[in-house]
Amino acid sequence: MRRGIAGGLSGVMLAGMLTAGAWAAPAAKPTVSEQPTQAMSSIQNFYDVPEDAYYAAAAYWAVGKGMVSGAGERLFEPDALCTNAQVVTMLWRGMGSPEPVGANPFSDVPAGTYYEKAALWAYEAGLVSGTEFYGEQPCSRGSIVTMLWKLAGQPAAQGQAGADWNLLLVNAWNAVPQNFSVTLAPIQGCQYSIDARCADALNQMLTDCWAAGYSPLVCSGYRTQQTQEWLFSQAVDKWMARGLSRADAEQTAARSTAVPGTSEHQMGLAADIIDIHYPELNEKQATRPTQQWLMEHCWEYGFILRYPEDKSELTGIIYEPWHYRYVGVEAAQAIREQGLCLEEYLQWRAQYQSAVAWAWEKGVTASATVEGFAPQATCTRAQLVTFLHHALT
Ligand SMILES: [Zn+2]
Repeated sequence: MRRGIAGGLSGVMLAGMLTAGAWAAPAAKPTVSEQPTQAMSSIQNFYDVPEDAYYAAAAYWAVGKGMVSGAGERLFEPDALCTNAQVVTMLWRGMGSPEPVGANPFSDVPAGTYYEKAALWAYEAGLVSGTEFYGEQPCSRGSIVTMLWKLAGQPAAQGQAGADWNLLLVNAWNAVPQNFSVTLAPIQGCQYSIDARCADALNQMLTDCWAAGYSPLVCSGYRTQQTQEWLFSQAVDKWMARGLSRADAEQTAARSTAVPGTSEHQMGLAADIIDIHYPELNEKQATRPTQQWLMEHCWEYGFILRYPEDKSELTGIIYEPWHYRYVGVEAAQAIREQGLCLEEYLQWRAQYQSAVAWAWEKGVTASATVEGFAPQATCTRAQLVTFLHHALT
């Protein structure tokens, strides 16, 4: 089932979002239930909220706003984990408990449950999507700041870093940059070369593939503009010979041979790898044991199969079970685990980075970096009220 996203970046985070929905992976069931507010007539001190706790002001602010009640008799339970239902309920109350207007899209949000309206509102506001809500599962820190960022209108954060060299996107809609240059290194066992920064990884992958008993052969690596132009004109000629007009032939050719200036081979980050005993560039390549080993293990070396079978609409290129692209191990792992293509991965990554950067600029979190923010970590009540206090005041 296709699920929407509240935001995310790391492999773990994406795992939680894309397989379990907008949320982090399930963990132990929290003990705190967020029943409809029994607004405290007078705010009492919680036994378990020290006066000097970093979240003390936020906790009392949230209680005073009717967003959260204590966990019991004067207990706030600051270390309890927040479920998706609790987080969305607090957010909804913080926004004034707006009445949802649409039908319930979720199969797991029964009518009359305490978070029903909050879940529907979150769906209508674009904070969550899909057909399951996973209300009882813990909500990650990354999901929460992404929802807050969306509520704030997805403001662009300042000072965002440019794309990493290994994540540069080149496809039919994104040409190789004008002043692009690359330092090349040879690929073993062939006449081709690749970006020197990923040559060791590729050569190691080939060595290990051979050692496992298979027979990979690189049949293309870095290409110049001239080479790509020659390959493209060959492909166009082939289609024209079959009776297509030049315009139709160019359009058809572009589905399998990138238009010059838009090929990953021109970046030096791609290699076409075939089974030496089956030197054909067609879908049967995928059935070869050599190719299956590569598809299974390429992420370990930072490579992805760049044009998967079911992503042609997004990549612009047909299924190519031979074209491997270097993206680095972290991205390759996330892409593999979640069945994304590079276009999808970069979209979520950009969204998540904007959310974290915005959260830091707004003082919602003190963690400026992805690593420091621990997006995939579960969120305690203390952290949640702190986020909300900063974001909504
Ligand atoms: Zn290729």
